Amino acid sequence: MAKPVPRPTPTEQPFYDACAAGKLVLQRCHSCGHALFYPRTHCDACHSDQLVWEDASGTGTIATYTVVRRGVSADFEAPYVIALIDLDEGPRMMSQIVGADPDGLAVGLSVKVDFAAWSEDITLPLFRLHPALDGGDA
Ligand SMILES: [Zn+2]
Repeated sequence: MAKPVPRPTPTEQPFYDACAAGKLVLQRCHSCGHALFYPRTHCDACHSDQLVWEDASGTGTIATYTVVRRGVSADFEAPYVIALIDLDEGPRMMSQIVGADPDGLAVGLSVKVDFAAWSEDITLPLFRLHPALDGGDA
């Protein structure tokens, strides 16, 4: 089984364009101020369609995670870490945590976004531990 590759809709395309440029962006509702992820056509808090893209801080905390020790296919090199990240802006994003010992992870640790090419056309956000905020190694 090959890696599944996202095929962005027009609504999602700005998110992937920003990832390709090394930036994490989120939609923010101009009516109520709510920050959204995943990309939508209407605010999931107030249903307004007045959504604007803005740069995100790229930082958040680990809400939960799982260590995959057996990849689903040869295209997924195990072990790897799938996590739910609570972004500082509010939305929760499913992603990967890389560059860390899986046994050293914990709910609540700070993470910072990074980016990796997933396919020729798609760059995805992933996260690394944020040592500046947790006193780890720089
Ligand atoms: Zn809203």
